[in-house]
Amino acid sequence: MKHYFMEKDEVLRATGSTANGLTSSEAEQRLVKHGPNKLEESKKTTLSERILAQISDPMVLVLMAAAVISAITAKLSGESLSDVFIILFVVVLNTALGVIQESKAEAAIDALKKMAAATSKVMRDGRIVHIKSEELVVGDVVLLEAGDAVPADGRLISCVSLKVEEAALTGESVPVEKTDAVLEDSGTDIPLGDRVNMVYMGSSVVYGRGKMVVTATGMNTEMGKIANAITTAQEGETPLQKKMAQLSRILTVLVLGICVIMFGISLLRHFISPATPGTGLADTLLSSFMLAVSLAVAAVPEGLVAVITIVLSIGVTKMAKRNAIIRKLTAVETLGCTQIICTDKTGTLTQNKMTVVECSAFDEKLLASSLALCSDAELNEQGHAEGDPTQAAVVNFAKKIGLPKNELTARYPRVAEIPFDSERKLMTTLHKKPGGGFIQHTTGAPDVVISKCTKYYENGCVFPLTEEKRQFFISENKRMAAKALRVLAAAYREWETQPPLLSSEDESDLTFIGLAGMMDPVRDEVPAAIEQCRTAGIRPVMITGDHIDTATAIAMQLGIINDPSQAITGAMLDEISDEDFVNNVEHYGVYARVKPEHKSRIVNAWRSRGYVTAMTGDGVNDAPSIKNADIGIGMGITGTDVTKNVADMILADDNFATIVAAVEEGRRIYDNIRKAIQFLLSSNLSEVISIFIATIFGFTILKPAHILFINLITDSLPAIALGMEKGEADIMKRKPRDPKEGIFSGGMGFSIFYQGVMVAVLTLAAYFIGERIENGAWRIANSNDGMTMAFLTMSMAEIFHSYNMRSQYGSIFGIKKHNFYLFGSMLLSFILTAAVIYIPFLRNAFGFTHISPAEYVTALTLAILVIPVVELVKLLQRRNRKA
Ligand code: ADP
Ligand code: MG
Repeated sequence: MKHYFMEKDEVLRATGSTANGLTSSEAEQRLVKHGPNKLEESKKTTLSERILAQISDPMVLVLMAAAVISAITAKLSGESLSDVFIILFVVVLNTALGVIQESKAEAAIDALKKMAAATSKVMRDGRIVHIKSEELVVGDVVLLEAGDAVPADGRLISCVSLKVEEAALTGESVPVEKTDAVLEDSGTDIPLGDRVNMVYMGSSVVYGRGKMVVTATGMNTEMGKIANAITTAQEGETPLQKKMAQLSRILTVLVLGICVIMFGISLLRHFISPATPGTGLADTLLSSFMLAVSLAVAAVPEGLVAVITIVLSIGVTKMAKRNAIIRKLTAVETLGCTQIICTDKTGTLTQNKMTVVECSAFDEKLLASSLALCSDAELNEQGHAEGDPTQAAVVNFAKKIGLPKNELTARYPRVAEIPFDSERKLMTTLHKKPGGGFIQHTTGAPDVVISKCTKYYENGCVFPLTEEKRQFFISENKRMAAKALRVLAAAYREWETQPPLLSSEDESDLTFIGLAGMMDPVRDEVPAAIEQCRTAGIRPVMITGDHIDTATAIAMQLGIINDPSQAITGAMLDEISDEDFVNNVEHYGVYARVKPEHKSRIVNAWRSRGYVTAMTGDGVNDAPSIKNADIGIGMGITGTDVTKNVADMILADDNFATIVAAVEEGRRIYDNIRKAIQFLLSSNLSEVISIFIATIFGFTILKPAHILFINLITDSLPAIALGMEKGEADIMKRKPRDPKEGIFSGGMGFSIFYQGVMVAVLTLAAYFIGERIENGAWRIANSNDGMTMAFLTMSMAEIFHSYNMRSQYGSIFGIKKHNFYLFGSMLLSFILTAAVIYIPFLRNAFGFTHISPAEYVTALTLAILVIPVVELVKLLQRRNRKA
């Protein structure tokens, strides 16, 4: 029989459960037997697919063609196959590295996804525990409340004003009101949208709370049936990755074009004036082909896209360690541009550890019992209240003055309720009185509560609420709020008989009891983080549901605003036209008593002024504003599933300081990627220039295998190491980056150019010195010593040049932090270049010659010159900028 046609206890029996849920051992057995509660994911890319993707890269294809052709000619002419082996070795190594990098990057993203995985509140062994939603089994009793994503299919066994949005299943976006009553079985089945005592995976709770017993998990859920193999959303590439992939493609096409032309030119030269009389066409063909290949290898920055991917994935892992969990990779780049951070106050700037420190009431005990009864927090075995911090604070307060919550509820059992929501800023519960009749307690924001009161309580009597008294209570509220206290008001209403349907209409004609003020200390890290925002050109904006005086007091204390006129309430905001608001948005730094819809208005105003805006949110109704922000930030602890699911980033510790740390990481990552790009492109340019000049004058400066070696070892390693740079000292002292500015802005194009020329000049100089030593005279001719020295100078120049990249404009001698990766890659390159020059069989394979120590030192000295040259240019640049 269908679960919705069963009585509650029938369903519990059918699922082998009880009203108190399963035991953990039973749940464990079921999990093993029926598997985890998750939808099957689309197939992951397999290893062979990955390898294929690497090999089908145009550059790799060119290299393999080169290998085949050299193999054939070597066979024909009986030469050694060393070139072929070197090329093949490089292809294999390159493919392996590419595959490893890609798998690592994917693993990093997967790990992040796990961290952001949904959890559920479940009854196990009769107690409420938080478990991963994946571990749910049939029979589990799950607690649901506003903002939760429904984790599995289930039948409701209790619910209070529960409303669920089921658009994913029914297409209907209006929330459905749910019930725990049995549905009447008239012989025909009813459509999913009408099964109002069931909730389904893929929907979300927008209001109220409830309990369900799980009837189906994983692929057996209705969601699982629709989406047989749900294709998880593809992780999009970031704008930077897209741009660089595009640049690589353009360069590849361009280079292949140039290669064809050069190939043609050398053929022509063969027929018009053969370089060496007597060389055959086949030889010329081969040498011009190899030349074209070396040019292609030189000009295409093979490592570029891979380096960006690695730096990004290492970056997000690092951010996760600092409690910022990135959900969308694009956020990493946007973070570095953040100009405005709109942040919640409660829990993000403050600790969310509320304590009642002051009351204003004629009867403190009545105030405490009203607040505690109208709260969902409960005392645990240790006697501490558990639940929402505001609600827990009042329960602790009541206990302190001798009114433990369990005793209160025993005397006044709750029979109905209207849950708290930040729209109404009220919460109401209805209780049965021991002597007969009912009492309603309504608590909430004092201004709202007072506006609903017509009477007040004083010394056992009830008096009509005069205007004078009303003003007095309002002034009491202001007095407490000005001390940065979060103030809650309590009121009651008596009923002879139970009102049939408790609704917000009944939150009227109340009798005012009093006020309780709670302290919520500022988080320790926040003042420093706000100061950091100031130097980094980022503006923090506080948004809160609290009273304007509470908000202003804390904001002034933190330095978010320096004048109370910069604070505004949601009600005042409603009076301002959109146009006026947009024009004045810079004036306001604090928004108090806001409703969730105001948040969207605030984000949109900042954005329409062109500011890159981040926005935090926790409640169900915050999802739209989080979606609208450039960076939507969800709360890991207090946040609801609904907001987490649309967020770009999640704060594992709900902490404002974490946002600032993430911005810093974002800036660092972008900086480092830029450094790696500048380094790689200037290196490629120097290779192209050297080969181009050598070709014009008819000598060989570097062979394809040499360039492959340089690109693979002395280019890629330092580029990745640059990605690990710790961040320049002024990283949080600069203004945010303009998101519209291109990657080559700020003189990077010029730097790439002059640095490429510099290394080329040094390499050519090394060649001619080697040539002179070998031949005893300055000539333009082929020389093995020249080639060997040119190779050494170019590889080592790259290494030294990578040190130049550590700071864009600053002197590298002023950097205090060490980069061990860079040092390691220098050491490794040192050893490897020496190995290919001095180990005989490698030397022969590469076609080098044994060079004397004097030649070695000369080549090194030339290479090291890149440091003083770049330092000098930076000095001039700094002078220029000051002027
Ligand atoms: P925020 O989370 O930004 O501080 P809320 O909308 O949660 O704002 O709270 C607004 C006001 O509603 C608070 O200042 C307090 O007076 C009142 N309030 C908050 N939580 C509760 C609750 N659980 N029950 C009753 N009143 C509450
Ligand atoms: Mg709140």
